[in-house]
Amino acid sequence: MSQSFEQRRGQKSVDEWASDVSLILDGNTNEGIRASAPGRVEFIGNHTDYNGGWVLGATIDRRVEVVLQRRSDRQIRLQSEAAVPPVEVPLGSVERQSGEWAWANYILGMVEVLQGEGMTIESGFDLRVGSTLPVGAGLSSSAALELASGAALSEAYGGEFLRRDLVRMAQRAENEFVGVPCGLLDQAVVALGGADRLVRLDARSEATAAVPFPPETGIWIFRTHQAHALSESGYQERHDEARAVRERLRELLGNEEAEYLVDVSPSQLEEVKRELSKTLYRRARHVVTEHRRTQRVVQLLKAGRRAAAGRLLFASHESSRVNYENSTEALDFVVDRLAEQEGVLGARLTGAGFGGAAMAWTRAGYGEEQAHEVAGAYADRFGMELETLACRPAPGLYVWT
Ligand code: ADP
Ligand code: MG
Repeated sequence: MSQSFEQRRGQKSVDEWASDVSLILDGNTNEGIRASAPGRVEFIGNHTDYNGGWVLGATIDRRVEVVLQRRSDRQIRLQSEAAVPPVEVPLGSVERQSGEWAWANYILGMVEVLQGEGMTIESGFDLRVGSTLPVGAGLSSSAALELASGAALSEAYGGEFLRRDLVRMAQRAENEFVGVPCGLLDQAVVALGGADRLVRLDARSEATAAVPFPPETGIWIFRTHQAHALSESGYQERHDEARAVRERLRELLGNEEAEYLVDVSPSQLEEVKRELSKTLYRRARHVVTEHRRTQRVVQLLKAGRRAAAGRLLFASHESSRVNYENSTEALDFVVDRLAEQEGVLGARLTGAGFGGAAMAWTRAGYGEEQAHEVAGAYADRFGMELETLACRPAPGLYVWT
């Protein structure tokens, strides 16, 4: 028996996992190799990853599923139930697609990377994609598509890869083939997450760890459907500011060992506050405190102290709003309404910010009615729909074998 997916076998049987979710694509599993991967949400650790800090993510019970069938010729045929055209390329000349065919790059990237790692794909294949995960919503449909495809390919062609190998390969596919310079968080959470846990990533060492997700609690996502263009330029600007203030702090503190912004302590930052522009001080303040909040949340979750952990989610939002300035009026409004509600342990913007989504961590009693109350208030205020998604952490990547 191959050693791939050994962690999966150690945790919970595939059958148990399979019964956790409904099949997204029609057809029975005998028709091919079926693999499934969830989306993910950033629980806390906002903009800490490129600053060498900690991030905590959770899988959600919205998934991408693929079914792969080997062919007798050398064609690769990709098809999705999403509104995208099918793509057909010969195995011998896998090239980056553009325009409306670009969706195939997440899968073709895995084909390239897996072969680069020594796996022989000796025949063509048909691969169908189904999904219950919103696309382009900051919930990592890209990583889910990469990992589900990578796992199916690995299973079909005898790749002896560990789950954590696939994490890196998926990141490389996205960086090098798709051309998106993402960190490791999305792929790590999608592959290593589970119904009972959060995944902690230490961006410096790239080490991951499981953190218990308190039972009887849930996650709600509130999508504002606000502009994406702003989010890209804003993200780049913050990236540049973070680098600039790190360089400046190195000079001021004479600390050449400060490889990352998180190496500076909050008290060291206060010492040199006067030497920094207001903006750069705030950016640094957010990163150094957010990293430590994330560390504290991990401790609190391990100790079962939900209320205290939840308060730090609100503090995270406040720091994003005031210091990193990546919140919006709409996100602040949602978080403020959530803070007033019974059953909300914590709430904050999640992901890059500048629009996008907020998340709430809730007790079991919190339900549709309360979420709709927030959406109603949002519609009254902004004249726009607030999309609400009820989620809970879900099994990470798996294949039916
Ligand atoms: P996110 O990862 O936040 O959803 P990205 O822009 O990183 O957003 O990835 C979204 C892209 O992934 C889509 O534009 C599409 O190319 C691809 N994708 C995701 N899910 C599917 C799907 N079910 N079918 C086809 N392509 C998909
Ligand atoms: Mg993505």
